[in-house]
Amino acid sequence: TLKETIQRALKKLGVKQLNNGTSTGFNSFGNGEVIKSYSPVDGELIGKLTSTTKTDYEQVIENAQTAFKSWRLKPAPQRGEIVRQFGNKLRELKQPLGELVSYEMGKSLQEGLGEVQEMIDICDFAVGLSRQLHGLTMHSERPGHRMYEQYHPLGIVGIISAFNFPVAVWAWNTALAWVSGDVCIWKASEKAPLCSIACQNIIAGVLKENNLPEGISNIINGNYIVGEFMTTDKRVPLISATGSTRMGKIVGKTVGERLGKSLLELGGNNAIIVTPDADLKMTVIGAVFGAVGTAGQRCTSTRRLIIHESMYTKVKDALVAAYKQLRIGNPLDENNHVGPLIDKDAVKMYQNALTKVVEEGGKLLVEGGVLTGKGFETGCYVQPAIAEAENHFKIVQHETFAPILYLLKYTGDINNAIEIQNGVNQGLSSAIMTNNLREAELFLSQAGSDCGIANVNIGTSGAEIGGAFGGEKETGGGRESGSDAWKVYMRRQTNTINYTTELPLAQGIKFDL
Ligand code: NAD
Repeated sequence: TLKETIQRALKKLGVKQLNNGTSTGFNSFGNGEVIKSYSPVDGELIGKLTSTTKTDYEQVIENAQTAFKSWRLKPAPQRGEIVRQFGNKLRELKQPLGELVSYEMGKSLQEGLGEVQEMIDICDFAVGLSRQLHGLTMHSERPGHRMYEQYHPLGIVGIISAFNFPVAVWAWNTALAWVSGDVCIWKASEKAPLCSIACQNIIAGVLKENNLPEGISNIINGNYIVGEFMTTDKRVPLISATGSTRMGKIVGKTVGERLGKSLLELGGNNAIIVTPDADLKMTVIGAVFGAVGTAGQRCTSTRRLIIHESMYTKVKDALVAAYKQLRIGNPLDENNHVGPLIDKDAVKMYQNALTKVVEEGGKLLVEGGVLTGKGFETGCYVQPAIAEAENHFKIVQHETFAPILYLLKYTGDINNAIEIQNGVNQGLSSAIMTNNLREAELFLSQAGSDCGIANVNIGTSGAEIGGAFGGEKETGGGRESGSDAWKVYMRRQTNTINYTTELPLAQGIKFDL
């Protein structure tokens, strides 16, 4: 049964049933109020933990600061070795961790396992990176001088994560931060806190086996108030925050006021452009998966389809037919495509959006609604919906974190579609479905998509860890994961060495004494 599966997973992950309100693990303690984690799948209480008080937080900072002093001295490839071992532990525990992700957050088991796979992949990436944290050398204008730059560890990296990727986002940050020589403090979402305990247990085991201090990886538990301990704290030079644009505006301002660094990964309003040259089958698969995968709770979920008028009816009919095939229910049952939303507040926002789009003049093609009856007792299961709408509608401009797809029509050439695509405040992911080279290249050009991610003949949703991940405008401008995203976790230093007996000044300035 589901209950047995989850009990088994929790046991394998060392997450105890915390009935006395205390938490497991050295650095996951807290003396604050009890947080209860309920599953959106069946409404069961999964476990309890205690939140972190300010006093607890001071202890965590001290642990992290002490750990940093030794960790930063370890050669980067040796830090990579620890990350390699962590990746191997994740391979061993992929199944139970994927199950916990699926049960606590509500995404399908396949997606839960996929999330753990992303953690493994970023570990592999980081291990290679640990031998490549390189700067440049430059030619000095002064004779007998050498100039180069190098990257040093930054210190404590504060990670604030959203509920929808309760484990991968942490790994994206922490694997890079660790090889960079940083130590981390993670505040996971209060909506999926047990996932963070499981992850902490895994890394704590690896650190212990290697006689390293657990302060290299720390977690703190609680809501935004606990997050604010870090955002206001100048002992935490970098805050990497993933979540809503609303949160990012507050965090960006708070960290900016103390001139700290922030890496912001915020909301999206992602669109697929469907041109007259699009492959219909690929379009439908890409759009449906993008819109209903994770019940529309991905930052890269497809929210808008911008369809050329000549394709409009064909795409619309195919989508409505495809939505009829969707099976909604327990996400741990692999027969189902769509699981629940995270909680009832999310359901309210979904219902509100459906009301709003009609009020603004839109038309529901697939009506949606909250499912009731056997298997749907939590009240968190909703029917994915499709609405015909216009881009300027307030509700279309807003990211509703639920499976609602807006169909928008364009006429004329591709530039009109690009204008609609870019005509929102967010700038995360975008895609074009076309077999026309000119359209595809224009979409990718400087006059094309203004998003951090732009795809051709792939949907908006999901990304590989090898590329830098993030978006522009109200998505926050941060980049994490692959490419050279590691640079944000390090401080750059320019070094000039004079190996002569003279002291020539730069720019030919003379200063004789
Ligand atoms: P949320 O903004 O409600 O919460 C995210 C995290 O921020 C939580 O841990 C929360 O406790 C913390 N937080 C909130 N206010 C804070 C404050 N003032 N100071 C410090 N911490 C604070 O987001 P959510 O509902 O958990 O997640 C959904 C949102 O996340 C969506 O908008 C989605 O697009 C976005 N998201 C973005 C990415 C990305 O990479 N761009 C990835 C995943 C999710």
